[in-house]
Amino acid sequence: MTKLRLAIVGAGPAGIYAADILLKAERNFEVSIDLFDQLPAPYGLVRYGVAPDHPRIKGIITALRGVLDSGDIRVFGNVRFGVDITLDDLKKHYNAVIFSTGAVKDADLKIPGADLEGSYGAADFVSWFDGHPDVPRTWPLEAKEIAVIGNGNVALDVARMLVKHADDLLPTEIPENVYAGLSASPVTDVHIFGRRGPTSVKFTPLELRELGELRDVDMILHDEDFDYDDAARDAVKSNKQVFVIDKVLNQWRQRETGSASRRLHLHFFAKPLEVVDDGTGRVDAFRWERTKRDGAGGVVGTGEIREIPVQAVYRAVGYFGSELPDVPFDKKRGVIPNREGQVLRRDPEAGTGLFNQQMYGVYATGWIKRGPVGLIGHTKSDAMETIRHLINDLGNWWRPESPSEESIVALLDERGVKYTGLDGWHNLDQHELALGEASGRTRIKVVPREEMVTISRAE
Ligand SMILES: Cc1cc2nc3c(=O)[nH]c(=O)nc-3n(C[C@H](O)[C@H](O)[C@H](O)COP(=O)(O)OP(=O)(O)OC[C@H]3O[C@@H](n4cnc5c(N)ncnc54)[C@H](O)[C@@H]3O)c2cc1C
Repeated sequence: MTKLRLAIVGAGPAGIYAADILLKAERNFEVSIDLFDQLPAPYGLVRYGVAPDHPRIKGIITALRGVLDSGDIRVFGNVRFGVDITLDDLKKHYNAVIFSTGAVKDADLKIPGADLEGSYGAADFVSWFDGHPDVPRTWPLEAKEIAVIGNGNVALDVARMLVKHADDLLPTEIPENVYAGLSASPVTDVHIFGRRGPTSVKFTPLELRELGELRDVDMILHDEDFDYDDAARDAVKSNKQVFVIDKVLNQWRQRETGSASRRLHLHFFAKPLEVVDDGTGRVDAFRWERTKRDGAGGVVGTGEIREIPVQAVYRAVGYFGSELPDVPFDKKRGVIPNREGQVLRRDPEAGTGLFNQQMYGVYATGWIKRGPVGLIGHTKSDAMETIRHLINDLGNWWRPESPSEESIVALLDERGVKYTGLDGWHNLDQHELALGEASGRTRIKVVPREEMVTISRAE
């Protein structure tokens, strides 16, 4: 019977679901899967993106862990594709590879002052508060007034983490350094800005509603943003999500304010223009142009310029994928070009510059396949599509010269790569749970990479 030796690069939800779906799929060949990740711990953005005060979503890790624990998948953490292993290595040892490397960088916001001191990308801040090993341990939380640019759930996460009292995060798994940093924050006002109106936001109702439940935080909204036209009224009537969002926002408008020590302001119809310099290269203010509905579902500028003093700006305008060595990359969209998960490369003979030729043996799934939108659940349907093609493409798989399971281990050992296996994750998991228990918390994350590796490898 044919055997598929499959490498999956990226142990986030997309990679783990892909492995699970393949193992359960109807097929006439055996499967042996090796799952690689650059981080010493699996689960991608579920561990390093989802906010620590969302324990229900973090709980998805339990299901993903169940897949890894099923015994049919080998995990190689702390192995970076492009550094520790290359595409040529994979071709030598596997029949095919699925890239599920996600998107971890901030998309650019091209306005003057975006790179001033005190202007931060949301992804970096998220990595800090979620204890990512590759970002600095300290975060400059010196601002009293902060602008958060963006109207999606990441903007909500960032604003919530900034305005929430640190003690209310103690029951979560936040690392010690994050608790210490947030406890010392002098923040009083966080302003969220979106270009469009309240009926066009990308927030989901559950995440929005949560803001209004924060202790000692007043929600501040502005009547001028709620002067709806017919299109906005139609959206409220016809779309359940918009209906709920509108209801939540209008409930907040009726609330008494003035007693809380912190405030969360929502500004709609605000097109970012500039992060204003204080003359020394630091953030001094945020400037925007008031927009209005254009009658066709979009907005146009009104020419009215506004400004508020802030000492920090967080840009939450989306994530962007990263290019991998020897793998085609669509620089505009930040994805690996693909047709339903089958990776496409440029046909050099056609000379069109278009990605339209299948790169046999190479597949993509998750955020690196379709861009950084959608929830964890969406990566499951993604993976189904990719796996369907992988199975059907049997005749075009690579024919590796060293397909044995030992050969890749020998290669990593030879290169001195300190990889962490599934047992390693169990060690780290136990260690973090024990750290938490000692402080009356569920878990305290270990942050430094070296420490993660040492604990995982029980060295
Ligand atoms: C701030 C934030 C909050 C979110 N909150 C929620 C939420 O509450 N609910 C929800 O459903 N969804 C949420 N999402 C969306 C969810 O995280 C994504 O849908 C999902 O994680 C995408 O899965 P993925 O596996 O494609 O990518 P990822 O989760 O990013 O996994 C990619 C993996 O690939 C690894 N990798 C990357 N490059 C390499 C390399 N060169 N070599 C080896 N490994 C590599 C990474 O280390 C990572 O482990 C959130 C996203 C963000 C950014």
